[in-house]
Amino acid sequence: MYQYRWHDTRKIDLPLGKVVCVGRNYLDHIKELNNTIPEQPLLFMKGNNALADMTLPLAIPERGECHNELEIALLIGEQLDADSKDVSNAVLGVGLALDFTLRDVQSELKAKGYPWERAKAFDASCPVSPFVPFNDIDDVSGLCFSLTVNGEIRQQGDAKMMMLSWQRLLQEIASVFTLYPGDVVLTGTPKGVGKIQSGDSLVAEMSEHLTITTRVA
Ligand code: ZN
Repeated sequence: MYQYRWHDTRKIDLPLGKVVCVGRNYLDHIKELNNTIPEQPLLFMKGNNALADMTLPLAIPERGECHNELEIALLIGEQLDADSKDVSNAVLGVGLALDFTLRDVQSELKAKGYPWERAKAFDASCPVSPFVPFNDIDDVSGLCFSLTVNGEIRQQGDAKMMMLSWQRLLQEIASVFTLYPGDVVLTGTPKGVGKIQSGDSLVAEMSEHLTITTRVA
């Protein structure tokens, strides 16, 4: 089973929790999939079965077209709920996550108005990087991140371009789902989603803090 770690490889003593994700938080990604801007944040969840180590070869299902969505991930260290006033103290670590998505399966589910779990919440559908302590990052909103696939930059994100800032996103999520220590929040993907396949080499970077080199198994 996966174990949360700091970027210096020390273990983080937290249980694996749920992963709460936001769809459509970057305008450029909404446009690339011809989606509409949601009236309220589009939230969905993955269970702790989804968590996996991004530094190890990434297993993807063969039953559909698996797309990359690289996102900034916030590891929750303190409980947050609808009554929480200050959300920033609840974040223990900041890292990257891949919100793997079976895009063809998701399109079928969307068309029928069905939930997305079969496309989004399968085992190992959320590989996460080691985490950087929140206090070591000056400003989460100032983070840039990128995903390179087989030597070509596919995604470039800038946390400033989130439609809902990470603080407002945490407030919104906590008003619906109490967040517990060990939960992870994904903050949305910028444009550049696309198919990945067995053998692809991936490099995920987050400003000067993280460079993860990995591959698809
Ligand atoms: Zn996503």
